[in-house]
Amino acid sequence: MSTQNVFERILDGEIPCDTVFENDDILAFRDIAPQAPVHIVIIPKKKGIVSIQEVASDDEMAIVVKIIAVAQQLARDFRIDKTGYRLLTNAGLNSGQEVLHLHFHLIGGAPLGPLA
Ligand code: AMP
Repeated sequence: MSTQNVFERILDGEIPCDTVFENDDILAFRDIAPQAPVHIVIIPKKKGIVSIQEVASDDEMAIVVKIIAVAQQLARDFRIDKTGYRLLTNAGLNSGQEVLHLHFHLIGGAPLGPLA
């Protein structure tokens, strides 16, 4: 049994994913349980950053900025840039974060309703 979380296992190729973007630093794939017509998970390839709360070094901060740029590009690619979308990241217990590897949800393609 792997001790790695599901996103680390995706990064290692142990679990397949529906990739929509990849470069040296970042992987983006379709969420397995989409909450809207477009629901993409964007993650850093660097392991060990549990959540946005753990982002510390300049290099890690730079990855977050790169993730935002990727989200903008994916929003254009999936044609939700004009209609609007939500880019969110859960951190910790009260957020309901399930996977302990920093990730951003890009969600759109329909009205999303209020935040919980
Ligand atoms: P969070 O609650 O912010 O930790 O979100 C974790 C997200 O990962 C959820 O939206 C899950 O549906 C999604 N997820 C879990 N396993 C997979 C998988 N194998 N492939 C794609 N998305 C996944």
